[in-house]
Amino acid sequence: MHNQADALLKEEINRLKKENSVYIIAHYYQRPEIQDLADFVGDSYAMAVAAKNSPLDTILVAGVDFMAESAAILCPGKTVLSPEPAATCPMANSIDVNDVLQYKDTHPGSLVVSYVNTPASIKAVSDICVTSSNAVKIIQKLPQDVPIFFIPDENLGKFIAGKLDRPLDFYPSCCPIHNAVTRQDILKCKEEHPGAEVLVHPECTPDVIALSDYVGSTAGIINYAAKSDKNQFIIATEHGVMHRINQVSPGKDLILAQAGLTCPNMKSITLDKILNSLKNMETIIAVPESIRSQAAVALERMIAYAC
Ligand code: SF4
Repeated sequence: MHNQADALLKEEINRLKKENSVYIIAHYYQRPEIQDLADFVGDSYAMAVAAKNSPLDTILVAGVDFMAESAAILCPGKTVLSPEPAATCPMANSIDVNDVLQYKDTHPGSLVVSYVNTPASIKAVSDICVTSSNAVKIIQKLPQDVPIFFIPDENLGKFIAGKLDRPLDFYPSCCPIHNAVTRQDILKCKEEHPGAEVLVHPECTPDVIALSDYVGSTAGIINYAAKSDKNQFIIATEHGVMHRINQVSPGKDLILAQAGLTCPNMKSITLDKILNSLKNMETIIAVPESIRSQAAVALERMIAYAC
């Protein structure tokens, strides 16, 4: 019955998507049924690029609020819809514009490098944005002799600082989902599955990263598992990636490092909400032009530096 109802919803979504010329972009942490009906599925970096290159003028973003904002920032002439504007990221919301301005005041000549998981107002006062898939590459290209304030994910910042062997200043925040994975979780999984490789997102703690065989972005983890000749993996990131790995490389044995690896905000988007969004062409995400134009500089720099 549930499957039949979902099939009807999907049919209606596809009809309205076509009728209203809407391009659907979804994050890998979305529910499987949403990933399956999206025109494009990716991590936050790929979603930003896909929005910029969208072949249609209306984009529905199935992801948390900063992802829809990024699309609105990069595509001023397009309409960006969110099926659930209340879907947000507690880490992105943890930092205030004044925290950034205060750092700039006390560190003249410094650069503010903002993880893409930030609201538009924070991007607007940042020098450049990064994602977990391009942060190392981008920061490597920045001047060596200036202080860098990496915001807001301290775990990711520490990982990058270690990779580059360069001190960075951090903001004390983290993703509550990735940060909840413990060293004990990984050790227990390794004991139960001694042959498995451990794939970890850099938003996890340094303790967890130290036990990994591979550390990478969401897209990096998917690619690694798909291309590896190994068959069993312990996954320390949001469980939505498992759907994608199963699609691109069926038959791999995937073990979630901890049962709680589900982002409730990402999962608050449902087929019903997408249908409602397409029916009413809402909620339109708009960023005030004074903020949008400044935030666009940091996002466009990211895209240019990531090449
Ligand atoms: S998984 Fe973490 S970083 Fe990503 S949206 Fe959820 S809370 Fe934010």
